[in-house]
Amino acid sequence: MPSDDDLCRGYTVHITFEARDVTEARDRAVMYAEALCLLRPEVSLLDTRLSPAEVWHRTEPTFCGQEGPEGELCTDVHRHPGFHSGPGLGSLSWGEGI
Ligand SMILES: [Zn+2]
Repeated sequence: MPSDDDLCRGYTVHITFEARDVTEARDRAVMYAEALCLLRPEVSLLDTRLSPAEVWHRTEPTFCGQEGPEGELCTDVHRHPGFHSGPGLGSLSWGEGI
């Protein structure tokens, strides 16, 4: 009989790094997530989250993830200004723009 660990298919890895403030931490989190996703396409870019070290319950999304009119998800950074945009150059943009 499989254990609960054997039935789980989704896992999370936590990476700790230093930054001067939360703005720099957000920028670094985006760079680390994008780099890892380039190396390993099975990693979900839009599921990455940022939290203060050792405070796992205070997470915020790394990327926007807003759903567009055709079901695509915005891959711009969390709290970005302007229109939402899908993945890749020349992709669909939507929203009001700020
Ligand atoms: Zn967006």
